[in-house]
Amino acid sequence: MFDLSPTLLDLLSIKGGTHALCDIFPQLHARFATQLLDKRLFYLSQLVDHDGIYIQSWDELRLNYKFHHRIPLWYKTLLPQVCEHVASRQLLTRYHCPETFLPNLPLPLVNPHTKWRGLWSTYWHSSSSRTLYGRIIFNSSSKTQDLYAIFTHWIPDPSDDSLITPQSRSLRLIRCSGCSLNQSSSLKISNAWRTRAKGASCYLKIDFYNVLALETCTKKRFLTETVQSVDFKISTHYLESQLRLFAQRLHINPVFDNDELPPSSPSPQTPEPLVYHLQQNNNVLEDYQFYTDGSLTNLCSPDVKMDFGWVQVVEDLILTSHSASIPCFHPSASRAEISAIAHVISNLPDNSTIELYTDSLSSINTL
Ligand SMILES: [Zn+2]
Repeated sequence: MFDLSPTLLDLLSIKGGTHALCDIFPQLHARFATQLLDKRLFYLSQLVDHDGIYIQSWDELRLNYKFHHRIPLWYKTLLPQVCEHVASRQLLTRYHCPETFLPNLPLPLVNPHTKWRGLWSTYWHSSSSRTLYGRIIFNSSSKTQDLYAIFTHWIPDPSDDSLITPQSRSLRLIRCSGCSLNQSSSLKISNAWRTRAKGASCYLKIDFYNVLALETCTKKRFLTETVQSVDFKISTHYLESQLRLFAQRLHINPVFDNDELPPSSPSPQTPEPLVYHLQQNNNVLEDYQFYTDGSLTNLCSPDVKMDFGWVQVVEDLILTSHSASIPCFHPSASRAEISAIAHVISNLPDNSTIELYTDSLSSINTL
C-alpha cells in the first residue's frame, strides 16, 4: 500500500459520472478491469439509456462500445445489483442517472428481421431530404421477401413554442393528419394495422435502409388513440444529425489529397458556421458554451498543417461544430489554439458571456 497525498489522489481521480463500477462490484471489477478500462468505462452512468433510468441492453452496449463478445460476467452480475427486475432493465431509483451525465448515445439500429408492431422510429425520406418521425406498425420480416415497413407518420408539435432554439428542444410528436406523403389510398390498410396505428391516419411504405429507432426497442410506451402528443427526451437536432449521417453512410466519397491545392489554403466552400442562441424564459440569452482545439501537424516538413475546431454545446448536447485550416505562415500550436477561440468570439454578438473549454494553457494565460 502507498500513502498518496490528497493532492495527488485528487489529480488521479476520474470525474464525470455517477456510481463507480468498481464500487458496485469490487471483486469482479479487478478481474474485468482491463476490459472496462479499454472502453474507458468507469461509471454506471456510462451504461444507461437516453433517459437515465434504464441500463442499456448488452446488444446496445455492444453496438455503442464495440464489444465483440457475448454477455460477460460483469454485465450479468451488474444487472441484478442495480435493476429492480433484470428483465425490465429499469434501474433502482438510487441508481437513476442525472441528466448531466447521460451518455451521448447513437440511436439504435432497427433489425429488419424482427417483427415490429409499433416501434417509434425516425426515417430519412431521401427524395424530399426530410426527417420523418413515426411508428412502424408492420414489417415484412421474412428473409424471402423484400424488406419493407408500414410507417405511420407523426410530426413535431408546431404548438410547442418554447423560447429555446427549436432544434435544441426535446422532440414532441403529434399525429400527421395526412400530408403529400400519405399512401393510404394505394396501400391495403388491414384492420390490424388500423388498430396498431392508434389513431394515426398518414401511412407510408418505407425501406429499412434509412431507419433508426427512436428509443430502446424493448421499451413500450403506453399509447392510445386519445393520447394527443408523445415526448422524447432527445433533441430534434441530435436526432436529425444522427439520422442524416446514418443515411449518408452509403454515399460517403473517399477523400483524396488534392496536390494542386497548397496545404495552407483554406477550403473555399467552408459554409458559414452557425452559432445557436439559446433564450431563457425571461428572454435573456443563455451563456454560450464552447470547446475549442487547435492542432499543428507535420512541423518541419513541407506538409506542415495548422487546423482548428470548435464545438458549441448546451448541457452535454452538441449543438453545432466548425473546423477549418489556417494558413501556415508562422506555424505554431498556440496560434492554432488561439485561432479557434478567436473564431468563436468573432461569431458571437457583442457583450456575450461564454464559457470556453480548452486544453491549451498558453491560450488561457494569453486571454
Ligand atoms: Zn403525413
